[in-house]
Amino acid sequence: MSAKIISGTEVAAQIREELKKEVDEMKAKNGVVPGLVTILVGANPASISYVTAKIKASHELGFYSIQDDQPSDIAEADLLKLVDKYNKDPKIHGILVQLPLPKQVDEKKVLNAIDPDKDVDGFHPVNVGRLMIGGDEVKFLPCTPAGIQELIVRAGFETSGAEVVVVGRSNIVGKPIANIMLQKGKGANSTVTVVHTGTKNLETHCKRADILIVAAGVPGLVKPEWIKPGACVIDVGVNRVGEKKSEKTGKMIPILKGDVDFEAAKEIAGAITPVPGGVGPMTITMLMKNTVKSAKLHARIQ
Ligand code: NAD
Repeated sequence: MSAKIISGTEVAAQIREELKKEVDEMKAKNGVVPGLVTILVGANPASISYVTAKIKASHELGFYSIQDDQPSDIAEADLLKLVDKYNKDPKIHGILVQLPLPKQVDEKKVLNAIDPDKDVDGFHPVNVGRLMIGGDEVKFLPCTPAGIQELIVRAGFETSGAEVVVVGRSNIVGKPIANIMLQKGKGANSTVTVVHTGTKNLETHCKRADILIVAAGVPGLVKPEWIKPGACVIDVGVNRVGEKKSEKTGKMIPILKGDVDFEAAKEIAGAITPVPGGVGPMTITMLMKNTVKSAKLHARIQ
């Protein structure tokens, strides 16, 4: 039987609808408008398109948003001053510094200068520590892992007691999603295994997974026969494997593939995310969710 296809595009649209209602209500009842600033340094085309998508989403939800573009030769001290300005701005609840930053700027220094209570990306060491501790300590979950958890929960999979296997141990996907799934509480409480380049037998671990989360960046790494029948498969990998002509625009566009052989895997899994259209669309939506949460926390709205 063919697996249920988990559409990140549909789930993201649903969450954005819920967020729009929440924002309208906050504005009407409390006079609070979520504020987001994106700081873009230079003109990296990929960064421009990410920032544009983030600003567009924030406009659609009725946020107060600032797109603060800076020249590529900005001095580190000036960028730190800018971050500090937004740290102190009461209308701003979320600060996003788009990476990569130019060579003269120490990326870590800039990211660590963001007020952890406005760190809607969830990568500040304070927020990483809060996630590790869990419970009420957690303020902002990093966006891609938070999106993965939403997809699993909204697909109706029981996470409590489930065997979750995470392929990959990066700081932006593997480690945080493993931490999220092992928390005590709703949508988690799982038994988590993390496998990586140092793991001896990837196949044995993957075969045990009720929920298999793959974030390796290696096309086709997970073979269909490694999937437990009926498992929930979340394919985070986005790999460019070639180019094709777009039917819409006639321009050349990349061919994207995940870390799992989708066509074969969907005949074995119970549910699976496609690439593209799976985890990808969730990331910006979760950034919006974090910004709404931050505005509520700052305004002490329940
Ligand atoms: P990364 O390169 O930082 O980490 C990859 C991890 O996979 C490493 O921990 C490594 O140990 C493990 N790995 C690599 N090859 C392996 C192998 N052969 N066997 C076992 N483990 C192996 O990558 P990342 O930033 O975590 O991203 C992973 C993938 O997810 C990439 O394809 C990336 O493009 C994609 N991604 C997508 C989104 C999104 O959709 N929004 C967001 C972030 C990352």
